[in-house]
Amino acid sequence: MSKIKYTIEKKKLETKLDTIRWKIIRDIWYCIHCWKRSKILNAHHVFGRRKLSVRRDIDNGVCLCPSCHILSIDFSAHQTGTEFAEWIIEFRGRQWYDDLKFRAYQIKQWTIDELEKRLEELTLFYDKIKDEWKSKRK
Ligand SMILES: [Zn+2]
Repeated sequence: MSKIKYTIEKKKLETKLDTIRWKIIRDIWYCIHCWKRSKILNAHHVFGRRKLSVRRDIDNGVCLCPSCHILSIDFSAHQTGTEFAEWIIEFRGRQWYDDLKFRAYQIKQWTIDELEKRLEELTLFYDKIKDEWKSKRK
């Protein structure tokens, strides 16, 4: 495969992965901080999107309403980062946070094969959970 073809193929896979990651996290259908149910929800990255090793890791995603994600100056992931980090450690546990942090600081270059495998895993996972979660929302 030519370099340009490889790059285009990789970009396509990354976009599909970003979408399925967003669908899985957002499909919880409520903000995990304030428990507000909303059709407008964001899939926050605990460790920012630049951390490629965990960019499409479901563990690195948190379903938040826009207020808890970016808008609130009293408490939101993007405006009060330290308080948010303290809260998520309390909520999900120190071990979870330390494991994710360890993975977040690994340098990772994804190959097309790895991206395809991850996309297949996440698609299977999403197909499994979407109906179950949908029935819980009723
Ligand atoms: Zn919220």
